[in-house]
Amino acid sequence: MSSQQRNILVTSALPYANGAIHLGHLVEYIQTDIWARFQKMRGHRCIYVCADDTHGTPIMLRAEKEGITPEQLIDRVWHEHKRDFDGFHIAFDNYHSTHSEETRFYADTIYTRLQDAGLIEVRAIEQFYDPVKDMFLPDRFIKGECPKCHAKDQYGDNCEACGAAYQPTDLIEPYSAVSGARPVRKTSDHHFFRLSDPRCADFLQRWIATPGHVQTEAANKLNEWLDAGLSDWDISRDAPYFGFEIPGAPGKFYYVWLDAPIGYMGSFRHYCDRHGLDFDAFWKPDAQAEVYHFIGKDILYFHALFWPAELHHAGFRTPSGVFCHGFLTINGTKMSKSRGTFITAESYLRHLDPEWLRYYFAAKLNGTMEDIDLNLEDFAARVNSDLVGKYVNIASRCAGFISKRFGGRLGTVDRSATAEFERAFAEGAIAQSYEARDYGRALREIMRLADLANGHIADKKPWEMARQDGREAELHEVCSTALTLFRDLTLYLKPVLPKLAEQVEAFLNIPPLTWTDVWAPLPAGHAINEYQHLMTRIDPKKIEAMVEENRQSMAPPPEPAPVRHAERQQHEAQAEATSTSPAYIGIDDFSKIDLRVARIAGAEHVEGADKLLKLTLDLGTETRTVFAGIKAAYAPETLVGRLTVMVANLAPRKMKFGLSEGMVLAASDERGGPFLLAPDSGAQPGMRIK
Ligand SMILES: [Zn+2]
Repeated sequence: MSSQQRNILVTSALPYANGAIHLGHLVEYIQTDIWARFQKMRGHRCIYVCADDTHGTPIMLRAEKEGITPEQLIDRVWHEHKRDFDGFHIAFDNYHSTHSEETRFYADTIYTRLQDAGLIEVRAIEQFYDPVKDMFLPDRFIKGECPKCHAKDQYGDNCEACGAAYQPTDLIEPYSAVSGARPVRKTSDHHFFRLSDPRCADFLQRWIATPGHVQTEAANKLNEWLDAGLSDWDISRDAPYFGFEIPGAPGKFYYVWLDAPIGYMGSFRHYCDRHGLDFDAFWKPDAQAEVYHFIGKDILYFHALFWPAELHHAGFRTPSGVFCHGFLTINGTKMSKSRGTFITAESYLRHLDPEWLRYYFAAKLNGTMEDIDLNLEDFAARVNSDLVGKYVNIASRCAGFISKRFGGRLGTVDRSATAEFERAFAEGAIAQSYEARDYGRALREIMRLADLANGHIADKKPWEMARQDGREAELHEVCSTALTLFRDLTLYLKPVLPKLAEQVEAFLNIPPLTWTDVWAPLPAGHAINEYQHLMTRIDPKKIEAMVEENRQSMAPPPEPAPVRHAERQQHEAQAEATSTSPAYIGIDDFSKIDLRVARIAGAEHVEGADKLLKLTLDLGTETRTVFAGIKAAYAPETLVGRLTVMVANLAPRKMKFGLSEGMVLAASDERGGPFLLAPDSGAQPGMRIK
C-alpha cells in the first residue's frame, strides 16, 4: 500500500515461566498479533518476537519443589505457553527463551557498557536472609504481621488486608515463606544501575517528551516519577539464583528484570541468525528500522524508564514506541477463581473458538491504557450479531445461488452497490485505525459496511428473483456483488480473524488477501468453490461450562500481579509476585476425593513395565485393579495383606497394560520413596478417610 516498505520489530511482554497463560495475558498477545498481521498485509517487513521469561527465585524454588531442574521446568512451560499461543493464532516470527546464549550475550554487553560509562555502582545493603535455606529473601518471600492493621501472614512489601506499603523490615514476627524460619539480617554487595545520575534523568525527560514514544497518559505518569526523582536500581541478586552470573562478580546474578527486556534482543538475534537479517540495522543508535513494545500498564516503569536509559547509555537505539494497554476485567470485576472467571487459555480453547475472543478483544481495544471488560453475555451477543448475523450471513445467503444456478462462476458486479466500499477503501480510515491500534473504531467501520452489504441484499431479495422467471441475470449480479463485498469485509477482518480469512480465501478461490493499492471487484467468470459453513453462533451453555470448569479447578494458576506493583519504588518483579502462598481449597473440595482404606489382596509384576506393579485392592464390598508406580521400592510379595489408602473415585484410566481403577497413595521427594501410606491398626477395608 504505502510506497515505502517499513522494517518493524514488534514485541509483547515476556510471560513468566511459572504459570499458565490466561485470558488476562491474551489481551496483549491478541492486540500485538493483530497489529503485526496488519503491517504484514500492508507489505511491510514486520517481525514479531517474544520469549519465555525464565529466571529468578520463583522458578528456582518451584523446580526444586517439583524435584526437577529449572531447565526442565522452563522447557515444559515453554511448550505449554507455545501450545496456548498457537491455539489463539498468535503468529510469532520467533518464540525464544531468556535462558539463551543470545540473551546472555546482550545482557553482558549492556552491563559492561554501562559499567564503562560509570553507571554501575557496587554497594553493600542489608537484607533479610533465610538461615535454614541459606538464601536472601525477595520481599514476596517474607511474610509476617502487618505493622499497621496487624493482619497475619502478609507479604514483605504490602498488606493485602489494609493496603499499607512498607519495608520487609517493618513486619512484626517476620518469617521466611520458603522455610518458615525467622529471617536474619545480613549484608551483601549489590550492583546498582545508577538511574539517579543526571545523565539518565536528562535523557529520559527528552525521550518521554518526544511524540510517539509513549501515550499521553503514560507520559503523565512517567513525568510524575521523574519529578519525584529516580532511585538507583538494584540489578543483582545473590546465589543461589537461577539466572546469568554477572561477569567478574562470582556469586552475583542479574536480577530477572534486567534480562527480561533484553530477551527481546535475544529472541530477535536468534531470528536474525536463522534468517540472514542484520541485527544492527534494527538496534544501532541511528537505525531506520522501527521497534515497538506492547506492554501492560503495570510494567511501564521497567519499559519506559529503565529500558530506554539502559539502551541509550549502552550504545543501542531506544524504542520507537512503547504501547501500553490496561487490564482485563471479566463481568466488570477482577478475574476471580471463586467466580470461575480466572480462565486459562487452555480451558477457553476446550470450549470456545479462539477467533470469537480475538474479535471481542479487538472490538474493545482502542489504543489507550483503559481497562477492558469481557462481559460474557455481551461477548456472546456481539459475536453472534456481528460475525454470524452480519458478516458470514452475506456469503451464506448468496453463495448457494452461484453454485447451483451459475456453475460456480461469478457474473458482473453492480458498481453502484460497491461505491461506498470503494470510497472507504480510498479514504483509508480502517487502515489508519489499525495503525493507531484503535481496533474498536476499525471494527465499527467494518460493521457499518457489512450493514450496507446486507441492506443491498435485503433490497434486491435474491431469494425472490430465484423463484421468478427471466431474472437470472439480475440474480447473478446481486450474488456476485455481494461476494465481492464479502471479500472486502474479509480483507478488513483478516488481521483479527486470520483462520476464518483463510477459509474464505479457499472458498472464493483467491490468493491470500493483502492490502493492495487499488480496489477491484472479483472479475466476471471467476470460479469459486462450494460454500462451506464458516462460523457457528456462540452457545451460552458452552460459556457456562467453561466458567464452571474454572470454578471447580482445584489447582488454579496464580493471580495476576496487582496494579499497585507499578507504583512501588521497590520494583519487585511482577514475576516474583507469583505465589508461594498456598492455594487453599475448601472442605467441599477436599470431600470430593473419596479416600478409602484398602487391603492389598494381590500384587504382581507387569510384563514390559519398568515401574509398575499390578495391585488387586480389596475395598470390603468390591475389588479394584490399580497399576501403581512403586516397583522400584517394593517387592510384590511383601505387599500382599497390607492395608493402604486409595483414591476410590478417580476416573478409571486405560493404560497400556489394562484399566487402572484408582490410585494408591505414597509419599516421596528427593530424599527417597515412594513410601506407601498405611492406616493405624484397627482400620478395615472400605473405611472412608475424612
Ligand atoms: Zn494491614
